Amino acid sequence: MIERVESLGAAALAELEAGPLEESWLADFEVRVLGKKGSLTLLLRETGSLPGPERPAFGAKVNAVKAAVQERLGERRARAAQAGLAARLEAERLDVTLPGRPLRWGGVHPLTRMTWEICDIFGRLGFNVEGGPELEDEFHNFDALNMPADHPARDGMDSYYLEGAGPGGARGVLRTHTSSVQVRVLRRRKLPLRMLAPGRVYRRDAADATHGAQFHQVEGLAVDRFGAVRFSDLKGTLEAFARLMFGRRLGVRLRPSHFGFTEPSVEVDVQCFQCQGSGCALCRRSGYIEVMGAGMVHPGVFRACGHDPEATAGFAFGMGVERIAMLRWGIPDIRLFTENDPRFLAQF
Ligand SMILES: [Zn+2]
Repeated sequence: MIERVESLGAAALAELEAGPLEESWLADFEVRVLGKKGSLTLLLRETGSLPGPERPAFGAKVNAVKAAVQERLGERRARAAQAGLAARLEAERLDVTLPGRPLRWGGVHPLTRMTWEICDIFGRLGFNVEGGPELEDEFHNFDALNMPADHPARDGMDSYYLEGAGPGGARGVLRTHTSSVQVRVLRRRKLPLRMLAPGRVYRRDAADATHGAQFHQVEGLAVDRFGAVRFSDLKGTLEAFARLMFGRRLGVRLRPSHFGFTEPSVEVDVQCFQCQGSGCALCRRSGYIEVMGAGMVHPGVFRACGHDPEATAGFAFGMGVERIAMLRWGIPDIRLFTENDPRFLAQF
């Protein structure tokens, strides 16, 4: 019997030595040899069939062989774990000298970029940037701008109204221009002042290649005592803007127009920066491109904002950021600005 135990133990050790260094194989081996129904465990059950005096020696022998196999199994397990780790390290090795994958950077939206550029140009001419609410009341958006309730320009703007959104439950209006910011600043600040009001404005327009219900403006205002700001200052300011924005010394042409809050009012054309005035497709052969509206501040605006209209003078101008950007970068359709196509946006 003792010999059987020894040969079984030797066979088990040999199998263990020859077996692969894999945890799954070793676990299987453990069950087959040392488990409840394992070959060595079953040997112990035979103790009962032996003559009494032989039993202790037999039991001790089986347990010694089991312990030896158990110990060897532990060593194989440790080596298997090491081999597994080494294999994983090899498989997952990082080459730290490889160049990294470049990150995809986002960019500034072209309308934001253009707003910054416009503000930067007028900033160099001494204009400060001011802000105000997009949801306005009718006083700041219309009344104070010399556009009383029966004023035709007020209907012509096709505004978005919000019942009860104004002060004291009055009707609110999504601002139709950033001139409302000028009213707010003019009412609280001492003169002289030079300010810019960039921002989003809303008009009920059907969307097409050059119109949207929401667009962006930059409006400017310069106010001083009467005699200190003249129409020629307006023209000089606009010429400086055209030169800095479109990169050349371009002529500025003023055509009479009408806005409620300026008198006189003008449409401002800049000599075509593509053909220098000789006529091309961009300027529709006219040599000039309309870029903004402007004029001398109407006395009614000064009165509504708490300034003496007899002693105060100023000029104002306003431009659509989309229009300037489309001219400057040759963008054919205003809807490209809001479609968020990365192929378009990545070009700026
Ligand atoms: Zn042209």
